[in-house]
Amino acid sequence: MKIKCDFCKTEYNLDKLPNGNVKCAICGNVWAVQKSNKKNSFLMFFAALCALLAALVFTIVVFINYQAAKIKNNPLVASITEVTTVTDEMGRQKVSVSGTVKNQSEKIYGVPDLIVTSYDEEGNVVSKQKFLPSATLLDVGEEVSFNHILSSNPAVVKKVSVELEMQGVK
Ligand SMILES: [Zn+2]
Repeated sequence: MKIKCDFCKTEYNLDKLPNGNVKCAICGNVWAVQKSNKKNSFLMFFAALCALLAALVFTIVVFINYQAAKIKNNPLVASITEVTTVTDEMGRQKVSVSGTVKNQSEKIYGVPDLIVTSYDEEGNVVSKQKFLPSATLLDVGEEVSFNHILSSNPAVVKKVSVELEMQGVK
C-alpha cells in the first residue's frame, strides 16, 4: 500500500493503511489518509458483480424466451427410438419404426397424425405414410409411444424420419 505526502509528495510504502492522520517524516506535514483505494476496489468489485449478474439474467431471459418460442412452435415432439426389420405372417420383410410423441407444452394436446418418410441411399423419398398413434389426448408432459410397419421394401429404405401433421400446419 502506497501513500503520498500531499505537501512534499514523498511516497511511503506501508503494509497496512493507517487509521486517521499521518505525519510526514520529511516535511512534518500532517494529512488525513483517505481509504479511497479500498473503497474503489470494493466499488469496482461491486460493479463487476452487478455486470455479471445482469449478463447472467440477460442470458437466462434469452434462454427462457428461446425455449418458450421453441415450445410454442413445437408443442409436441415426435422422435424415433428404433428402426428394425420384422418379418410378417407371409414371410415378407418389413421395416418397423418405433418412437415416441411427447407433449412438452403446458396444455393438453390431441395426438395428430404422424407422417413417416422413408428415404433410399441417395436420400430420395421412397414413401410417405400417414398413420394415427394410439393415444388421442396427451396430457402436459405426457409421452406416448408408437410403432408403424412400413409397406416399403426394406432393402431400399436406408433412412426414416417422422413428423407430426399439425393442424393448420403443412
Ligand atoms: Zn512531506
